[in-house]
Amino acid sequence: MKPIVAIVGRPNVGKSTLVNRIAQTADAIVHQSRGVTRDRSYHEADWNGRSFTLVDTGGIEPLKSEDVFSASIRDQALAACEEAAVILFVVDGTTGVTEEDESVARMLKRVKAPVFLLVNKLDNPDREGDNLWEFYSLGVGEPIAISALHGHGTGDLLDEVVALFPEEDDLTAEPSDPNSLSVAIIGRPNAGKSSLFNKIIGSDRSIVSDIAGTTRDAIDTIVERDGRRYCMVDTAGIRKKSTVYENIEYYSMVRGLRAIDRADVALLVVDSTTGMTEQDQKVANLAIERGCALVILLNKWDLLKDDREREQVMETVDRRLTLAPWASVLRISALTGRSVEKIWALIDAAAAARASKVSTSRLNQMLTEMREFGHTVVDGKRRLRMHYVTQTGTKPPTFTFFVNHTDMVNDTYRRYIENRMRAAFDFKGTPIRLRFRKKD
Ligand code: GDP
Ligand code: GDP
Repeated sequence: MKPIVAIVGRPNVGKSTLVNRIAQTADAIVHQSRGVTRDRSYHEADWNGRSFTLVDTGGIEPLKSEDVFSASIRDQALAACEEAAVILFVVDGTTGVTEEDESVARMLKRVKAPVFLLVNKLDNPDREGDNLWEFYSLGVGEPIAISALHGHGTGDLLDEVVALFPEEDDLTAEPSDPNSLSVAIIGRPNAGKSSLFNKIIGSDRSIVSDIAGTTRDAIDTIVERDGRRYCMVDTAGIRKKSTVYENIEYYSMVRGLRAIDRADVALLVVDSTTGMTEQDQKVANLAIERGCALVILLNKWDLLKDDREREQVMETVDRRLTLAPWASVLRISALTGRSVEKIWALIDAAAAARASKVSTSRLNQMLTEMREFGHTVVDGKRRLRMHYVTQTGTKPPTFTFFVNHTDMVNDTYRRYIENRMRAAFDFKGTPIRLRFRKKD
């Protein structure tokens, strides 16, 4: 399935002119066909090796009570926007903001895809600033000046549009069962993984079945609880403990990694009697790198004798979990069953955060607040400016920031932004990714 780029806007702003311009610029047009209705046309296009389908939605006219035809065009436009990877919202820079523009903008706020606000008919590049800024009031992000007629800026625009497409891997990946979450139980030998697993599948509330995994010796176990399905990934190693490898740390790590690769959520079982170790930290970091949500289970909590010991364990967690202060931490005992039931709610919450989508308007509202706060990076005469941000992926949530100087984004600033994002939105339990792209 190719990404869809939908062009919307009220009549006469220059949508068809823009379609033709893009069609010319993105030269490898395969074919052009008219849609089923009068106005919706599809174009196959290619830019920098990424092919996409350009949909001219034919205009979103405000509903005039009896005009059935315009209602159906509106529905078509909406449908196209729902399917779109990127939306190009065209307005007319020579007339300023109209009520019709505002009604289109309102509709777009309900749509998930990133929106580019294109202020068209600004034919003279030197004077493009004149009416540009009033379009901020539409609340769909930063206005971009273009001239569909003369073609200023279409190449740059296409660069940015294509950059927002989902990774090709994501498009070809097998659609997973939306009602099933993959969960990996990882951790050092003797941390209590198999005890936990047995506790889970032994519970009255769990319905359990095995399915053979894709790798030779992998066995996944499906656990059903309250109508939800959890695929416990690669449990073969946990169930039949190999007597040969049992104590080899390395083997258990490799095994864990293989499981992580297929998991939405990783449960890291930590032995509380030793606290969180360097090895635990490594495995946690690998899970994060691979985009897994993470839940830390401090197991064998029953063996801790007093508050001092309990505090010591928590200190190791604080020290080792510097990369993932957002991970949920739960104290359990696989032996007594203490708090084991609570794991499911944490899995659900972490997976939901990992799959979450934040609208472009909410993101840019956050950016506006950050600007008002004034914290940025300055280097001599240069000053880092962030123009625009949009979500470009999920699982884990991935955000692309358009900035004037990508080289000025250092680790400190990245962390600062991540903290702001975590304060503004609920990403508890999931890693998030931040990307920075250049835009003047
Ligand atoms: P649509 O109804 O949104 O598809 O708009 P059209 O593409 O049919 O354009 C409406 C009118 O605006 C036409 O007369 C175009 O020639 C004109 N137009 C479109 N783009 C530009 C532009 O960049 N500059 C100027 N000056 N005119 C434009
Ligand atoms: P694995 O190697 O990670 O699968 O660890 P096991 O599940 O085999 O557990 C290793 C040892 O720790 C076994 O002797 C378990 O009985 C014991 N164990 C596991 N969980 C707990 C717990 O919560 N409390 C106590 N006291 N012992 C536990």
